[in-house]
Amino acid sequence: MRVNAYAAPAAGRPLALTTIERRDVGPNDVLIEIQYAGICHSDIHTVNGDWGPQPFPVVPGHEIVGLVTEVGSAVTRHHVGDRVGVGCMVNSCGECTNCRNGDEQYCLNGMVPTYAGTDRDGTTTQGGYSTHVVVDADYVLSVPESLDAAAAAPLLCAGITTYAPLRRWGAGPGKKVAVVGLGGLGHMAVKIAHALGADVTVLSQSLKKQEDGLRLGADHYHATSDPDTFKQLAGRFDLIVNTVSASIDLNAYLGLLAVDGTLVNVGAPAEPLSLHVMSLIGARRSFAGSMIGGIALTQEMLDFCAEHNIGAEVEVISADKVNEAYERVLASDVRYRFVIDTTTLA
Ligand code: NAP
Ligand code: ZN
Repeated sequence: MRVNAYAAPAAGRPLALTTIERRDVGPNDVLIEIQYAGICHSDIHTVNGDWGPQPFPVVPGHEIVGLVTEVGSAVTRHHVGDRVGVGCMVNSCGECTNCRNGDEQYCLNGMVPTYAGTDRDGTTTQGGYSTHVVVDADYVLSVPESLDAAAAAPLLCAGITTYAPLRRWGAGPGKKVAVVGLGGLGHMAVKIAHALGADVTVLSQSLKKQEDGLRLGADHYHATSDPDTFKQLAGRFDLIVNTVSASIDLNAYLGLLAVDGTLVNVGAPAEPLSLHVMSLIGARRSFAGSMIGGIALTQEMLDFCAEHNIGAEVEVISADKVNEAYERVLASDVRYRFVIDTTTLA
């Protein structure tokens, strides 16, 4: 099946309309007519070569919501007409310890990313900036009908990437949680941490988005450009989730953790972060990383968001505005996720 898509032809080049091939629907596959695809900063890191060479042309997009239009003969979980989602991975071995533990994203044999990865048939995966995608049914999520489709798309990456560490490190009543960076991931972290019952602080570069941050569920908001912030909040937080796409002064942020506190990095900058171990030793602190989340946890997150009426704050754009949107994300000028209406690709 040949379908329209928006692709980057080479590293750092603008995306343009093209056509790509989607495989035939196999026995365990689902064909999805895509409605919306979110723009994640990871798409931009990939296209710009921040994370190394990529198999260009690359069709990014791993925040996909659409409708099932065909299912393979062995598929029982999804039906034609269902509203479904696809996140950052489309396959894994299913047999290693991590897959068996529901951590398919850490598959010991390598999970298959939704784009710029090598699928089990040896072809290169292509993502959601496209009209259709064929995905193994086990990696397709059910998107509750009560969620707005465009607002639900970013949950498939920004939602699960923040939900997973918030749950793992116990964000909830009595816990003080800080979110660094109020972008796509950051604004989801604020909404989810608030819904989990935590006391939430936004640490943003400036106070420009303070009103938004408080409206989204933050209890406190501070500018990291103000050196007083680091004095005033020293030793305060149980958990800090760093969503920043660039490298930050890690040691300054570690100083904001209470004894036994943890700073979890989900932001994935190209540059290394430098860590002075004294920043950890001084208060038995931990520094951790976390990558998206497993399939069962992603479904749990979608159901949690439906229950708490949580979607992303989105700016829906037509596909021909993707390159402008990339520029705006790079300038931290996004409130708070661009989502492509992929019907504009038809
Ligand atoms: P985004 O929408 O661009 O948000 C990043 C935010 O970081 C910006 O809005 C800005 O917030 C802050 N920021 C940007 N540059 C900064 C700088 N130089 N110094 C300090 N703060 C800065 O990006 P996103 O889509 O949320 O993604 C964030 C990062 O997470 C990316 O690196 C992405 O690749 C990564 N990611 C990781 C996973 C995972 O599984 N671990 C999954 C998805 C994405 P303020 O304006 O509020 O300061
Ligand atoms: Zn992403």
